[in-house]
Amino acid sequence: MINNTPVKANDKYDNNRHTLPLLALRGICVFPEMNLHFDVGRQKSTKALNEAMEREQLVFLVAQREMMTDKPERNDLYDVGVIAKIKQILKTTSDNSRVIVEGIARARILGIVRSEPYFEAIVEELPDVARRSVNRIRKEAIMRSAQDAFVDYASLAPKLPGDLMLKVMGAKTPGMLADVIAATTPLKLPSKQAILEECDEYKRLRKLIFTLEEEINILEAERDLQEKVREQVDKNQREYYLREQLKVIQNELGEGENSYDDAQTYKEAIEKLGLPEEHEEKLIREAMRLPKLPFSSSEAGVIRTYLDTCLELPWNKFTRDRIDLKRARRILDADHYGLNKVKDRIIEFLAVQKLSKEQSPQILCLVGPPGVGKTSIGHSVASAMGRKYARVSLGGVRDEADIRGHRKTYIGSMPGRIITALRQAGSSNPVIILDEIDKMSNDFRGDPASAMLEVLDGEQNREFRDHFIEIPYDLSRVMFIMTANTLDTIPRPLLDRMEVIELSSYTTIDKLNIAKSHLIPKQIKKHGLAAKQLRFTDEAILGIIDSYTSESGVRNLEREIAKVCRKTAARVVEDPDAKTRVTEKNLHEFLGVPKTLREKISSEDQVGVVNGLAWTSVGGEMLSVETNVMDGTGKLELTGLLGDVMKESAHAAMSCIRSRIESFPSVDRDFYKNKDIHIHFPEGAIPKDGPSAGVTVATSLLSALSGCAVLRDVAMTGEITLRGRVLAIGGLREKTMAAYKAGVKTVIIPKECAKDMEELEEVVRNNLNFVFASTIDDVIDAAFAQSPRGLGSDDATRSAKAIPEVRMPDLVEIRQ
Ligand code: ADP
Repeated sequence: MINNTPVKANDKYDNNRHTLPLLALRGICVFPEMNLHFDVGRQKSTKALNEAMEREQLVFLVAQREMMTDKPERNDLYDVGVIAKIKQILKTTSDNSRVIVEGIARARILGIVRSEPYFEAIVEELPDVARRSVNRIRKEAIMRSAQDAFVDYASLAPKLPGDLMLKVMGAKTPGMLADVIAATTPLKLPSKQAILEECDEYKRLRKLIFTLEEEINILEAERDLQEKVREQVDKNQREYYLREQLKVIQNELGEGENSYDDAQTYKEAIEKLGLPEEHEEKLIREAMRLPKLPFSSSEAGVIRTYLDTCLELPWNKFTRDRIDLKRARRILDADHYGLNKVKDRIIEFLAVQKLSKEQSPQILCLVGPPGVGKTSIGHSVASAMGRKYARVSLGGVRDEADIRGHRKTYIGSMPGRIITALRQAGSSNPVIILDEIDKMSNDFRGDPASAMLEVLDGEQNREFRDHFIEIPYDLSRVMFIMTANTLDTIPRPLLDRMEVIELSSYTTIDKLNIAKSHLIPKQIKKHGLAAKQLRFTDEAILGIIDSYTSESGVRNLEREIAKVCRKTAARVVEDPDAKTRVTEKNLHEFLGVPKTLREKISSEDQVGVVNGLAWTSVGGEMLSVETNVMDGTGKLELTGLLGDVMKESAHAAMSCIRSRIESFPSVDRDFYKNKDIHIHFPEGAIPKDGPSAGVTVATSLLSALSGCAVLRDVAMTGEITLRGRVLAIGGLREKTMAAYKAGVKTVIIPKECAKDMEELEEVVRNNLNFVFASTIDDVIDAAFAQSPRGLGSDDATRSAKAIPEVRMPDLVEIRQ
């Protein structure tokens, strides 16, 4: 209750109603029992103050709803405010003054008496409503929770006045407590006003607690946020500081600037590569580690090697394909003699490449014996397409890491062979020759074939991951050409992806022509000679082919020619006018004694010795089989570096002879019990496997058991079944060629192979007598000098004379 208040006579509730000058407050809310000072500048407010000073120094303070309203009307003011006593007015400027007030009681506007020159209002005091029903304990509880909330709040809110805590703790009633807290904490005006308007002290305190809790949540979130920001800033500052320190230390050691410059140079180089963002970032991250590491540390070395390797790769560098079929044909013809079918296939392949817009091209696989020009054809394809070229040798590769590289953390690690080839080629669409894919094997270090699959698969190789490089490399525009000696050992899934082109072994005539048109000119040039300084006669070349080389291709031939060139070069150095003519007669002066003998067949018909035809990775070979029969206990011994399949086929041959024992009266019926048999395949250094020696073993065995000799100039090949059927075999072209070269006159081959006769070389077809055998009986009939079926038989004795003479092939003349 306010004393000495001017009370109007007609007031109904005299003591509670007052007519007072009204001062509109902007942005603040005054509470009872609270001291406050604020500045007054508005004229209307100054006038209200002056008026109040003339009365009892009492003024009604009420907040404006909107702070920005300059000339508030009644509606712009809240209803509830505080009757306050003006303690002091200080003139700060001519227009402004500072007022110190003390809140006395909350009051509500009942009406405005005047609004000019200042507001005057009739207000009614609003005493606190204390509820009797609330007992002491509840009162204490609610007050304490408000105090606790305040303590929490105070710990979060900065700059609360120091004595406030005392006031809060000292508040006697919930209403007062709410007022003290609301007055002194920086709550929003509407929240404060809501608390001011509440007369029920419990409700007021509860409202305050809610508001405080809300504020606490906000402050906590704010604090978290700030902490995070601060942490980040701290970290950045710390890093900056440490880095500066490091720089100083490294400078002292004389290595700092280098690392920084290095990292920067790397970064610029990396940015120039035009890699996808994430990969660029990865490389830059690696580069930026450099300044943090001592210059000479091994880790810095690893990073430098890694970055250098990555930078050297031809990312996004492509050459333009120039596929012109006529030009391609010219190049292929210039580089290689003959091979017409192969060249045709390659021209077709290039035509498809030109037409198809598909990104993943077919993979060529050139299969054939060594030295027939597989690798060099691959090279020609690259130049015909106008692409760069690189070669990867896969022979003996067992480790997946050979293909895919080692992780860069290992000492001395390197990228795999594919990436290395790309680096050598210097473009991302080269022709890569994968040499000897059939010689790739696997062991405990992983399967290189599966890595190769990833390299070759058009779907997967867009993102080929080398362990060393780590970021994926696109191989989809690389053209792969494989070479292999045989398809048998190429893993099936790899084979499925390839387009196979077969190259077969060369005939003597082919070799002669290759030597004349390519090898000799090439070697003469290579040895710095002039064509007129060295000439070969055809006979000399044939002499080299027959007596100094034994191969399907022309690699050794080339080597022997190179040897002749070397010797000639030595002569030319001594006497620049020397002209060398190599003939059949003086060949040995250049090459020494002949290495191979043309005639491989024995000089007479022998018992137990049979010419077999084998196909090795080097091409066709004529290998004889020898069988000895001795008294013993029925042991069968097989020697000569044989594979399992070959051993089994020898057993099959033996069973086959035993099952037909009745037909051969000269053979001991119990030979399997009382004879020891030793079958040997001479040339034991050559590994042999496969079923095609079946008929040879059977014939040799029968000859040894019966004592009947086998014709010396007959050679044979074919798989045999237990029932004596002769089954087809592969490599006929090479085998017959070997037989022809060895001087054989008759070749016994399985009947099923008759259809493949077309594929045989013409010289071979013209000069050999072919016997097509469907059973072992056909073989026996053709192979024996005396039939083992006994003397009654028609063809008891046969003579080699019945078979036509072998003619020497017509030589094709090509002038050097
Ligand atoms: P491969 O890869 O089949 O083992 P290469 O491609 O290494 O054989 O050939 C060996 C050598 O023989 C090379 O110098 C090659 O130029 C030459 N050569 C092979 N075939 C021919 C041919 N038909 N014409 C000309 N040179 C040939």
